[in-house]
Amino acid sequence: MINLEVPKKFTALVNQARQSATEFFRPNSRKYDHAEHTYPTELDMLSSVLDGLNDAGQGASGARGVRRSADANGDGRTRNGGNLSTVLGTIELCWGDVGLLLSLPRQGLGNAAIASVANEEQLERFAGTWAAMAITEPECGSDSAAIRTTARLDGDHYVLNGQKIFVTSGERADAVVVWASLDTAQGRAAIKSFVVERDTPGFELVRLEHKLGIRASDTAEFRLDNVRVPKENLLGSPEINTEGGFAGVMQTFDNTRPLVAAMAIGVAKAALEETRAVLAEAGVEPDYDRPANSQHAAAATMLQLEADFESAYLLTLEAAWMADNSKPNSLQASMAKAKAGRVGTDITLRCVELCGTLGYSENSLLEKWSRDSKILDIFEGTQQIQQLVVARRLLGKSSKELR
Ligand SMILES: Cc1cc2nc3c(=O)[nH]c(=O)nc-3n(C[C@H](O)[C@H](O)[C@H](O)COP(=O)(O)OP(=O)(O)OC[C@H]3O[C@@H](n4cnc5c(N)ncnc54)[C@H](O)[C@@H]3O)c2cc1C
Repeated sequence: MINLEVPKKFTALVNQARQSATEFFRPNSRKYDHAEHTYPTELDMLSSVLDGLNDAGQGASGARGVRRSADANGDGRTRNGGNLSTVLGTIELCWGDVGLLLSLPRQGLGNAAIASVANEEQLERFAGTWAAMAITEPECGSDSAAIRTTARLDGDHYVLNGQKIFVTSGERADAVVVWASLDTAQGRAAIKSFVVERDTPGFELVRLEHKLGIRASDTAEFRLDNVRVPKENLLGSPEINTEGGFAGVMQTFDNTRPLVAAMAIGVAKAALEETRAVLAEAGVEPDYDRPANSQHAAAATMLQLEADFESAYLLTLEAAWMADNSKPNSLQASMAKAKAGRVGTDITLRCVELCGTLGYSENSLLEKWSRDSKILDIFEGTQQIQQLVVARRLLGKSSKELR
């Protein structure tokens, strides 16, 4: 049976994440919102602490990846493991600042990919590497099977050519996990990921994006011009397996989508807390024992927002719990991401509205949270794409049948 109480063994982790968010993230939140593209040096110490937690199997940020332990279901007992702890830690850190979380050294999506699919030799070789992830291209976003970047085997190297845009941490990371096709004629099965060191000749950072939110996080565009990558840097199998090779790559999302949902929940939690305090000061407090329609309009709105928050939170915990217990969770991961992404944006904007001029001014972080939350409904699969995945799963349709 699924037990969605926060396990006692994670209390220390949650407290530690909350403390880090309070001491490192909140005080620097506005500073790096203004100083876009400036590396937050305050994070160096915190990332060393997180490295230790990840090594000890108590990750709070997701870099530990999605490697499932062989005995995850061996004894028939359910476990609250790495995915759940990471989700809980992420919520607290993003209560502090999601842009700063995304800027943490060695905690990138590329790190999650390496930790999830690298072989033992690669794990050792890339230990300590900060890795970003590059899937998106000018002509390929939601439909990641449309990747045009190519990888051609030439002796002991793959030669990569193409263009990648919107690479989170692209400027600061030591390496980028680049998705490229071994043979564009063979479709999605030929798409593989390669660890490309940042200083590889031909791997050129073209520019950084100026953004609506998460400004502490750098977002880079790259050109790949005959980039030679040792063939040992290909993650996973080099074979083109038309019987589901791409499905394997996509399954990584089943574990990372709950993490992005957790980010949205963390930001929404911050906004709700702040708004609750502002309303209380104005004498408005929701009464949980009375119908919403007999209360102050602001209190009734809070009840609705809190219900949305709770449902997103529970869906996210469920998706992470299923991953920890080797249960197929593609449906739940997308439901969690869709719900949390949507209500995260809704809650933070409604909080701006409820707090009036304070909500809109830079005297509080509410306006920043409303900007930061939008991306969480876009990357790792947009709202519409999550709904498409949910529909396919519920109706039993393939990606060819329902697109
Ligand atoms: C700040 C930021 C950071 C990012 N970081 C990374 C990163 O680190 N690595 C990386 O690879 N990418 C990253 N991305 C890219 C992100 O993942 C893509 O923006 C996202 O996947 C959407 O792709 P797109 O922008 O090309 O939109 P499109 O795919 O062109 O979609 C445009 C709109 O059409 C909708 N749509 C598309 N297809 C369908 C459909 N079949 N049915 C219904 N609606 C549909 C979408 O939901 C969206 O609303 C980042 C983006 C941003 C803004």
